[in-house]
Amino acid sequence: MPIVPVYTGRFAPSPSGPLHFGSLIAAISSYLQAKSQQGNWLLRIEDIDSPRTVPGAADSIMRTLELFGLYWHGPVIYQSQRLERYQDIFNQLKQQNLIYGCQCSRKQIAEQGGTYQGQCASLGLTTGRLAWRLRANAKENFTDLVFGEQTISAEIAAEDYIIKRRDGLFSYQLAVVVDDWDQGVTEVIRGADLLEMTPRQQALFQLLQAAAPQYGHIPLAVSAPNMKLSKQNHATDIRNWPVAHTLAKVLQFLGHPIPLELKAAPATELLSWAIKNWQIAKVSRQYEILHTEFL
Ligand code: GLU
Repeated sequence: MPIVPVYTGRFAPSPSGPLHFGSLIAAISSYLQAKSQQGNWLLRIEDIDSPRTVPGAADSIMRTLELFGLYWHGPVIYQSQRLERYQDIFNQLKQQNLIYGCQCSRKQIAEQGGTYQGQCASLGLTTGRLAWRLRANAKENFTDLVFGEQTISAEIAAEDYIIKRRDGLFSYQLAVVVDDWDQGVTEVIRGADLLEMTPRQQALFQLLQAAAPQYGHIPLAVSAPNMKLSKQNHATDIRNWPVAHTLAKVLQFLGHPIPLELKAAPATELLSWAIKNWQIAKVSRQYEILHTEFL
């Protein structure tokens, strides 16, 4: 009999600030998608970008998840503790000539329209302050669990992107794939801001000869058109928001308004109702939604 992998989902916040309404939506949607299938839901702290890591943010995120009754399975993984593993994968890709050194500055790339054009691909650079780029093999299409058939820009698909930065830090793109692989993640549910990056991640899985998870993206909560709610634009910490009320707002955002008879129910009851009634097909296919409609 074939071994059917246990559904494994995850929430992977970057600890650059406390949990806000937008990241709570990502947490709850991935949680419900996992729990409605008796799956495991993991927590990974994506602190790979150390200059952007805010001390205490990871703990604050975890305490807020607990307040909402979102308990994760197993130990929490921290990317900052996995650098050796990323280095091994980096070495393997380098040996296979799948990556190359690049000396282009951000300024140069901005001047040519913001997309790197492959200038260093055949230079064989090995010394100096280099960034390391992966030879692109991303497709332009993929099927999203929420948005259906997606086509991303040809430029993004073709761009040889950075997997190790000039300052020596591994990029999110490398770490996220290695982690999802190592943690046996079968499905990724996350914010629609990462939709365009999905073919890159699928392609990297393929290079590593690993099975890629399925991907589903959730509409972004925005404070104004094109203005993602984020830690950078000081979206408010939800730690002190009333839990049941906030949970109901998130469920409404996700296309699951709670029934009238549960209006005064405690958060634990709302969460159980949501697990039983969750259907990802009910999530809106709007790329972004004004979050003020839900507060
Ligand atoms: N760490 C990313 C963020 O907080 C999410 C990465 C992912 O879910 O793939 O935006």
